[in-house]
Amino acid sequence: MLAVGITGGIGSGKSAAANRFSELGVPVIDADVIARQVVEPDRPACRKVIDAFGDEVASDGGGLNRARLRKVVFSEPEKKSQLESILHPEIHAEILRQIAELSVPYAIVVIPLLAESKRQYPLDRILVIDAPTELQISRVSVRDNQSASEVERVIELQSSRQNRLAIADDVIENSGSLQSLRNSVDALHEKYLAIVRCSSQSENG
Ligand code: ADP
Repeated sequence: MLAVGITGGIGSGKSAAANRFSELGVPVIDADVIARQVVEPDRPACRKVIDAFGDEVASDGGGLNRARLRKVVFSEPEKKSQLESILHPEIHAEILRQIAELSVPYAIVVIPLLAESKRQYPLDRILVIDAPTELQISRVSVRDNQSASEVERVIELQSSRQNRLAIADDVIENSGSLQSLRNSVDALHEKYLAIVRCSSQSENG
């Protein structure tokens, strides 16, 4: 299977691109979705987080109260890294498990912080969604109802555009319309299918 990783800064358009791949019938594994799954009430990571941070971060349903957890780790770097040391290995293992379960020609794996991560992922190609910082800010301000300075702070904590572009095999410059983003995805979809065809031909003959 060809595993294509999608990464990009906040608001670059990763989800919009992944949605288009999904519309084209390509399975999408999304690290943000998995990050929520691993802390569902019956999962071991949920218990580990409550053991580490106390009952105040537990919700009535036995899951996590995300808002309270955010408050506890917010502005305390040690607590934030303690939380990450619980969650990141679980998220990584779950991504690997979901990739291994697929039996399709190719799949998309959205990993927002791929350029920042020191973990290894079994990806054959990396697609970076790139957008000018001003557009990231204006898109996220609208999407998440955040101020420009809040979004800027997140962008500053993320990898630079140059660092991300350095790991790219393919780049979509998402500075036009949503339709042009879709067109770029459609073109890459054809390219990935051609790569899959080529590699299965060389395996068979
Ligand atoms: P990411 O997943 O990288 O954080 P999203 O895909 O959620 O980013 O895009 C951020 C916001 O900008 C969303 O509301 C999305 O609909 C919008 N958006 C993305 N690309 C474009 C585009 N080319 N034109 C207009 N809006 C866009």
